Amino acid sequence: MTHTFSTLSLAQPLERAVADLGYESMTPIQEQAIPVVLQGRDVMGAAQTGTGKTAAFALPLLQRMLRHENTSASPARHPVRALVLLPTRELAVQVAQAVSAYAKYTGLRATVVFGGVDMKPQTAELKRGVEVLVATPGRLLDHIEGKNVVLNQVEYVVLDEADRMLDIGFLPDLQRILSYLPQQRTTLLFSATFSPEIRRLASSYLQDPVTIEVARPNATAATVTQHFYSVADDDKRRALRQLVRSKGIAQAFVFVNSKLGCARLARALERDGLKTAALHGDKSQDERLKSLDAFKRGEVDLLVCTDVAARGLDIKDVPAVFNYDIPFNAEDYVHRIGRTGRAGAEGLAISFVGGGNDARLVAEIEKLIRRKFEIEAIEFEEDRPNIRRQGRINDGRRAWRDASDSRDALDAPRGRAVPAREAPNDPFFDQPYQESDSAAPPAWEAATKKQASRVSANIKPRRKVAALFKSE
Ligand code: AMP
Repeated sequence: MTHTFSTLSLAQPLERAVADLGYESMTPIQEQAIPVVLQGRDVMGAAQTGTGKTAAFALPLLQRMLRHENTSASPARHPVRALVLLPTRELAVQVAQAVSAYAKYTGLRATVVFGGVDMKPQTAELKRGVEVLVATPGRLLDHIEGKNVVLNQVEYVVLDEADRMLDIGFLPDLQRILSYLPQQRTTLLFSATFSPEIRRLASSYLQDPVTIEVARPNATAATVTQHFYSVADDDKRRALRQLVRSKGIAQAFVFVNSKLGCARLARALERDGLKTAALHGDKSQDERLKSLDAFKRGEVDLLVCTDVAARGLDIKDVPAVFNYDIPFNAEDYVHRIGRTGRAGAEGLAISFVGGGNDARLVAEIEKLIRRKFEIEAIEFEEDRPNIRRQGRINDGRRAWRDASDSRDALDAPRGRAVPAREAPNDPFFDQPYQESDSAAPPAWEAATKKQASRVSANIKPRRKVAALFKSE
């Protein structure tokens, strides 16, 4: 049975914000996590983006912080009380927008800091005082080093997309940030998988956590049709154009395995007459946000991206996802195709099986999701890349945009009636979590030395980093 938000007795400003967003019933992670976080317990949550996870931690956290609400202009009266850490700039922006929407009728201040942009405006915001700080680890450390922010009054810390933070090599940064926080605090950790590394992190930093498992990371949504085509590497672009045309695909994510490949493919597709943008880690923050916005507005048809850049982006109901390259990591396949067929919508996932290791990688995907795929042949038609008629694409795109609700709801002016939104109700989210059977020993301890050099370029080389962790 699903419960409505009214059963929670949230404070009136939060109830109002939830109503504005058109949420009615809670998602499974919200039903399970909100009461636990309201009690102040630590949580270890297996949940992916798209499950309503942000509200699951943000609403109870805001509720508990309402006692700190005040209208004083003094920054000292607005210390950071809650810290939310995320692996990428896009995710940080997305979560900060959501938190601001939930907090908009409260007197609590929220802001976001991330790398790749000027620090000064962020510094000014921090110095004004802010209760909820959403941040990527590297830039937060820059601000800590610059004495722009003090974290000694933090009561809540959220490690969101923790598995991805470890993948990227943020462990030393996380350890360092956590060492600045009071011991007495509530820690919430969310991760798509509970790998040995994540368990290790949890056992070091969480106290008697409640484990909440709603999503099965190794499952793909039943609403996604999955195709695998055998395509020689040199024919992939042609195959992509043909499938976009023949299947009438209005918009798609196209995943590649490298930043270089991403930029090259985007340029080539653009030359072919397809409206394309690239999303990868070497792009400036501004460029990345622009690409994403252009895609959301429907001005771009194909968003070519790497896994790190795309992880967790809140773009729902993309009609199709292409795996132009088969991902090296089978779990990334699940994440990639999670962009389509979300929340019960129909989706299409098309993967190109080329040479090299691809057959082995497909076998690993089959093992992970416990499903066999037929590798289909593709018959090339006469190729006419430049004659796609704009009208047809626009029609398809409109249909997709009508189906998408989140932007419209968030952007709705105050007071305008927002249509009720269905909680993402996908059997995928209701299935119990299944542990990945990887028994690999934690790799991060060995990797720590190497990773330490990944910290932000703005930080001076640290003296013995390990010496700082003594208290941990
Ligand atoms: P998240 O997993 O937090 O990124 O949320 C995914 C999407 O679901 C966002 O667009 C949220 O605004 C939306 N959402 C979260 N909770 C609910 C709910 N209870 N009902 C409807 N939509 C929701």
